[in-house]
Amino acid sequence: METITTSEDALLAGLIGRGIMLSRTPLMHMREAQAQGLFTVYEKLDMDAPERATLSLTDMVTAAEAAGFDGLNITYPFKIEVISLLDELSENARAVGAVNTVVLKDGKRIGHNTDLWGFAESFRRGLDGADTRHAVLLGAGGAGVAVAHALADCGVAKLSIFDTDPARAEGLAELVAGNRPGTETQAVSDLAALFAEDRPTGIVNATPMGMEKLPGMAIDADLIASDLWVADIVYFPLETQLIATARAKGCRVLPGSGMAVYQAVRAFELFTGRPADPNRMKATFDAFDKAPLATAGNM
Ligand code: NAD
Repeated sequence: METITTSEDALLAGLIGRGIMLSRTPLMHMREAQAQGLFTVYEKLDMDAPERATLSLTDMVTAAEAAGFDGLNITYPFKIEVISLLDELSENARAVGAVNTVVLKDGKRIGHNTDLWGFAESFRRGLDGADTRHAVLLGAGGAGVAVAHALADCGVAKLSIFDTDPARAEGLAELVAGNRPGTETQAVSDLAALFAEDRPTGIVNATPMGMEKLPGMAIDADLIASDLWVADIVYFPLETQLIATARAKGCRVLPGSGMAVYQAVRAFELFTGRPADPNRMKATFDAFDKAPLATAGNM
């Protein structure tokens, strides 16, 4: 056994959330750290576990900091609540109003949103050169907020936002217009009318539709034409009904695994100050689909 000489040789981190026991994020971090020769402990800090029944989020973050953690990933339902416990926010975390990564350094707690960068990087790599004149985003919930900003960062000139809760679509259109003034935004309530009047060049699903427990699609298959690109952020199953339908029509497609991998890539880099190998982290992510217990938990 080698001796740990400095804390630079190690990654001590954890994931705080509920229902996280099947999350792929911890193993992606552990395997990447090990491949880079770092000693690593990455704990699943499941707030649903009986031993944490009396702990608050504040207690958990304070304990991790006192124990010398380099950082924390934060997931459902704490991405907004954690903000009040932090000293600083990155620009993206401030824009989105949610934090999924906290760096603990020099007595400070700094919040980041790597979901935003994760989707953007997945898009840049997987849909390189896509026509970004007009995208339609389905779903304006927690993930939709990050994805909307990411689409703007990927050069989407016009963003139409649809949600079964119209107030959410309107709120997000307003938020993105304020944070990313280079992108024209609008909330829409009738997808067929949108496609008839001003057909989008691409579609992104950020609703939970298509998850194993919620099969189906948030858009009528007839609206999907072969010249559109189609992205989904649902990744369990990897081949959602939307991705399968679009693929069968000949569309360029982007499955949700990319966002899941790249949010971890960026978090690893923030925790360690070292570049991560996205292909290696993706291989760890993909290995779950070959393992008998493979399934999805909260990120
Ligand atoms: P959420 O509940 O916060 O938001 C979902 C939104 O979709 C809500 O506003 C809801 O009104 C809307 N909606 C639901 N059904 C709809 C429909 N048929 N048409 C239009 N709008 C509809 O959920 P979330 O946290 O934003 O997550 C959404 C999905 O994204 C989940 O399936 C989650 O697993 C996935 N996700 C993936 C990643 C990734 O890294 N790939 C990251 C985060 C979330």
